[in-house]
Amino acid sequence: MHDPPRPRRSLVVPSALKAARAWIARALPSGGIAVDATAGLGRDTLFLARRVGPTGRVVAFDIQPAALAAAAARIQAARLEERVSFVLAGHETLDAHVSSFHAVMFNLGFLPRSDKRIITRPDTTLAALECAIVRLEPAGAITIVAYPGHPGGAEECAAVEDRLRRLAAREFEVACYRRLTPRAAEPTLFALRRR
Ligand code: SAH
Repeated sequence: MHDPPRPRRSLVVPSALKAARAWIARALPSGGIAVDATAGLGRDTLFLARRVGPTGRVVAFDIQPAALAAAAARIQAARLEERVSFVLAGHETLDAHVSSFHAVMFNLGFLPRSDKRIITRPDTTLAALECAIVRLEPAGAITIVAYPGHPGGAEECAAVEDRLRRLAAREFEVACYRRLTPRAAEPTLFALRRR
């Protein structure tokens, strides 16, 4: 008898990010408008820029200049800068910058290998989420990857969940993916689609 191989890395973290992209891919048409609410190093920004095609647009927010610089470098390397605008401001200012969109991605918490004190926070996350919900196009999708493992992260994750539970089922399809035996720092994916 052989013991099954013991995975050292979590399977939940990559699957949350992958599942988020699957929801977005279904909802974001070529030529559509997408928002990266937390650009970070720009991985989701690049994913969105590829998905929207040459006539689509992506707006990417971050409050850290270094994050936006890294995201912009990634977009330039892919020669997609014409499709992407970067906004150095909190995502809670979303409605001042974009009036409607087919997809919004949030990847909460802090930027890996950076200042862990610069984190998303429940009040601004909820303000941005509220705007995203109101202005989302029909059949559009929002994904939120929340990390309960860092200080304040569990509260933020619970606040997002509370808000999404109050969405009307006739208007939104809402899902939540998480491990039932969580280890610290593992994310929860919330995903919703307007009907
Ligand atoms: N999506 C990224 C990781 C994001 S980390 C990637 O795939 O690499 C979370 C990011 O949210 C950080 O870069 C942080 O600066 C940013 N952030 C924190 N508060 C914010 C706010 N109010 N509005 C927009 N971005 C914010």
